[in-house]
Amino acid sequence: MNTSLLAIFASSFFALSHSVLAAETPFAIAIHGGAGTIEKAKFTPEQEKAYRAKLTEAVEAGYKVLDQGGESLDAVTAAITVLEQSTYFNAGRGAVYTYDGSHELDASIMDGRNREAGAVAGVKHVESPISLARLVMDNSVHVMLSGQGAEEFAKEQGVELIENNLFDTEFRYKALLKAKQKLDKAKATSKEYQAAHKALPDSYKMGTVGAVALDKNGNLAAGTSTGGMTAKRYGRIGDAPVIGAGTFAENASCAVSATGHGEYFIRYNVASDICARVKYQNKTIEQAGDEVINKVLAPIGGTGGVIIVDTKGNISLPFNTSGMYRASKSNTQATYVGIFNDE
Ligand code: ASP
Repeated sequence: MNTSLLAIFASSFFALSHSVLAAETPFAIAIHGGAGTIEKAKFTPEQEKAYRAKLTEAVEAGYKVLDQGGESLDAVTAAITVLEQSTYFNAGRGAVYTYDGSHELDASIMDGRNREAGAVAGVKHVESPISLARLVMDNSVHVMLSGQGAEEFAKEQGVELIENNLFDTEFRYKALLKAKQKLDKAKATSKEYQAAHKALPDSYKMGTVGAVALDKNGNLAAGTSTGGMTAKRYGRIGDAPVIGAGTFAENASCAVSATGHGEYFIRYNVASDICARVKYQNKTIEQAGDEVINKVLAPIGGTGGVIIVDTKGNISLPFNTSGMYRASKSNTQATYVGIFNDE
């Protein structure tokens, strides 16, 4: 056999073994930065570019962990941390304001191997709620800690507490003032108030961040982090820290992180409903996500979307709004970034 023929054989052998390997050990990550009325016309080209760059940075941060053989939990944490540190998204640094003009953050994380989970709700002085949720999962005997107790735990864990006003941003404050103008005409417990709240633009209600990942060991994980909804009251807690509603992962089905109108996502148990359809009805994640987001939630006004990954490395990113900040990457799929309905 001459040497060039040998070289062809060798390279096709390596290509084949690489693709077999790739097929045997899938790994994948998907992220979101919130769903809502997100229209191209409202973006300058520079803004759109900046959002796409941040989504790319986050998905690449998570992918790198997976590519190097790291755990899906670490990939999820890495991706979400990038988004929490950015003011573009309603989590960590870009968190929205409560009615009283402060910031209360929620987050959760779940391990698909064993359904271990950690969550924090209503924390005011923690820079990275997703990291604290992880500490709750790893180092406490509880699943969900809220408010002062969660911050006491954070201190015990050596987490530095920061001033609440470090989450301040001008554009979120303007959104609060506008929301209050619309809401203040009605009493907070009245039907009119409920209607006014429902009528607030999506951009006041959404913007959560999340990630789902499958690692090379076949383990799934999901995480979600948020500032909740603009002008939320009374220690309101959304779906993001509620395991089964905003976050769910189990290796037997799939991993889901949600974004949208949290009250609907809690009542319809969105994340675990999607996984249950996969597990008990043998639906694909594509079918299950479409059913829950478009056939269950959309008709009742439950706006939002989810990101889903399964143990084969399939990814699905359904939403029933005009846009959802999203990105994904797998060992077989190049980086994808989307914002609007049509990319
Ligand atoms: N689901 C979040 C909440 O209700 C909001 C969002 O997704 O942006 O708190």
